[in-house]
Amino acid sequence: MTHKLFWQNPYLTQLETHVTGVQGSDITVDQTIFYAFSGGQESDEGTIGDYRVLQARKDGKEIIYTLENGHLLKPGDPVTMRIDWTRRYRLMRLHFAAEIVLELAYRSLPAIQKIGAHIAPDKARIDFAWPERIAGMLPSLQEQALAIIAANHNIISSFSDQAQEQRYWEIAGFARVPCGGTHLKKSGEVGEIGLKRKNVGKGKERIEIYLADDQRRA
Ligand SMILES: [Zn+2]
Repeated sequence: MTHKLFWQNPYLTQLETHVTGVQGSDITVDQTIFYAFSGGQESDEGTIGDYRVLQARKDGKEIIYTLENGHLLKPGDPVTMRIDWTRRYRLMRLHFAAEIVLELAYRSLPAIQKIGAHIAPDKARIDFAWPERIAGMLPSLQEQALAIIAANHNIISSFSDQAQEQRYWEIAGFARVPCGGTHLKKSGEVGEIGLKRKNVGKGKERIEIYLADDQRRA
């Protein structure tokens, strides 16, 4: 099983590791910084041994990396793993923005139910089962979220059960939430965000989260 250094240190962008298994284009490695799609957070992009990774996917506690055609790697080979840090850091900022917004939504509307979430590098979205338009809540949600971001709280990330690879994040006095994603060290790293409501069908409400630097560019 690969040792997942993206949890211990989600700020690593390059790693010397070893190939542990090869099956055609699919390989496994002994240690990894390369996140595989999980909990709504998209996979990283990057290279292993200078070969582009086409797909990273979880298989139980293992992560299978599919490389571009023609790699010559064998089990035991030392390889350098590199991830696209611009993409990953945007995913981490939007992921944590979504964590904050979700917690605040639960507080404002205790009966609300999350039915989906997706974190991409350009925006995050959270879908709720909720019979009313959520738009009226957004200014208050945004203001509360920005206050938590501005307070630059420490974010603790750790195992609740190491054998089962169960993780959580915590901001003391705010929330402790189970999640296996990659989390920032400080809430201030999220930066300024904007929220939008999307209509996605009867009884469903979507909140989209953007990084404000993008909104200004658009
Ligand atoms: Zn998370």
